[in-house]
Amino acid sequence: MSASDLERENRELKRTLRLMVNKAESDEAILTGFFALELELLRCKRLQQLLETVLHTMQEHFKICSVDMLLLDPEHSARQLLTEENLQQHGHHLRFLDHPKLLKKLFPRRSPLLGTIQELPQLRSCFSHIEPRGSSAALPLMHGDYLIGALHLHSHDAERYSNKYRYDYVAHLASVIAICMENCISHENLHRLSMVDMLTKVMNRRSFDQDILREISRSSREETALSCLFLDMDHFKKVNDSFGHLSGDQVLRTIGHLLRSAVRKTDLVARYGGEEFAILLPGCEKPQACELAERLRGQIQALIFRSESGHPFRLSASIGVSTCHPAELPDWSQASIANELIHAADTAVYQAKHNGRNQVYAVPFPGTPLYDQLAHA
Ligand code: GH3
Ligand code: MG
Ligand code: MG
Repeated sequence: MSASDLERENRELKRTLRLMVNKAESDEAILTGFFALELELLRCKRLQQLLETVLHTMQEHFKICSVDMLLLDPEHSARQLLTEENLQQHGHHLRFLDHPKLLKKLFPRRSPLLGTIQELPQLRSCFSHIEPRGSSAALPLMHGDYLIGALHLHSHDAERYSNKYRYDYVAHLASVIAICMENCISHENLHRLSMVDMLTKVMNRRSFDQDILREISRSSREETALSCLFLDMDHFKKVNDSFGHLSGDQVLRTIGHLLRSAVRKTDLVARYGGEEFAILLPGCEKPQACELAERLRGQIQALIFRSESGHPFRLSASIGVSTCHPAELPDWSQASIANELIHAADTAVYQAKHNGRNQVYAVPFPGTPLYDQLAHA
């Protein structure tokens, strides 16, 4: 072999080596990106966060035109974790199914579908908004042997998703997403259960104790008032004694429902004890809080309950009102404002009971001149 042949061969080898190194570097970059994405998915604690990562972050990560998801949700356990705004934000990229029929039709062999839109006409029935050009990867989301949804990646590039290539990593990501989805839904539902009173479906006291601190902090920042109502049913024991515990339970359910539907979305209703409810009213001054309390008192008084045996009866409630302005109490800790706000509302209920029940009574927040006057009277 001549020297010039050797030189040419050497050049050729160097070029091949450079190409191989470039390919290895690009593969490594893709792999690192995948791992980062996978970690981001695994870190998601809430369903909304997971959906944002899947539907938005993944789209940017893969530089494709859209990511869509179908989710089997027969009991609405996923939907109830999302707000209207959450659902609007994802629009047609997120669709819930009450029945697995469509998924079974889409993945008869439970394997991914790859190809151009012309090659995969069945995708149109699931993702009606997809453009006629480009290519798609539709991946089954599996939990054990069960199909729980579908992930759809769509690119304008007709060559991007094709059966010619292997998509092990994307399929792997679909498995991770399916597991994260199940985890987020059950974790969040469990959390919700621990914060809700099972009988009345309003928040429980634990949740109220946490939320009041958050609301005090918000009121302090926004320099707004925070009012608290304490509502105690009058002579409730008589209901149990006369009509039985189940009739009493039914009354509590009805009151819980009435309170939830009577207040704003931003107000917080909790069952504080047996037949006592607490309502937090952010941004609400004392006159408006008293007005609401009076309205609730009137609505409760107008209700006609029925005992287990169908016997009609009426009940009334005593309501205590207290209002604070956390921004005006810079030296107070959040916990002491919360304690005093609750204590004032509780004192007010006591006064309402003392004055004859079925009434609203407001007590000034401690620290105000009027409170000092009362306290020292
Ligand atoms: P007052 O007007 O002074 O508030 O009288 P009251 O009878 O409402 O108050 P009291 O504190 O004497 O009794 C409260 C009753 O509430 C006693 C308890 O059996 C009942 N209660 C507490 N929790 C529940 C519950 O979950 N279900 C039922 N059915 N009753 C409950
Ligand atoms: Mg009571
Ligand atoms: Mg009572």
